[in-house]
Amino acid sequence: MTTIICVQGDITGQHVDAIVNAANSSLLGGGGVDGAIHRAGGPEILAACRALRASHYGKGLPTGRAVATPAGRLPARWVIHTVGPVYSQEEDRSELLASCHRESLRVADELGARTVAFPAISTGIFRWPMEDAARIAVETVRAAETNVEEVRFVLFDERAYEAFSVQVR
Ligand code: ADP
Repeated sequence: MTTIICVQGDITGQHVDAIVNAANSSLLGGGGVDGAIHRAGGPEILAACRALRASHYGKGLPTGRAVATPAGRLPARWVIHTVGPVYSQEEDRSELLASCHRESLRVADELGARTVAFPAISTGIFRWPMEDAARIAVETVRAAETNVEEVRFVLFDERAYEAFSVQVR
């Protein structure tokens, strides 16, 4: 059984085995939570991302997929980078957002991570409506077959915290 909890705060400060990064496909850093993770974690994370680009992910990490690196100076052991879909009104990309959560948990299982923190993937620069993102994230984690014991959604502001809390209750 995976326990799902919500906290309001900064994901970079979480003492968990792995934190999930809402990365972009370049893996070379960006704004939002990605920028915060690289700033707080230091250059080791970017070096590991560059190595991934030079090997398995020459064209970048596809949307909906996930890959792990060490977490540098962060209190977590690993960062699991996943690329959320950009929200679209014309096209339903929900399956890609669900895939980010499933794939991140699959990578966490490969690492042996038991506690994993997720941000609200795609709800920032990628503009996914918060309530809908919360529903997809929580439903997907609930349905996942994983050895992860605790999934902690770490929400940056009160609105995100409320949206996720409603789904978890
Ligand atoms: P995306 O490109 O997937 O939309 P963003 O990083 O722009 O990714 O935003 C994803 C979510 O992460 C947003 O809800 C944003 O408020 C939140 N966020 C930004 N910084 C942090 C942080 N340090 N810890 C947790 N969440 C954060």
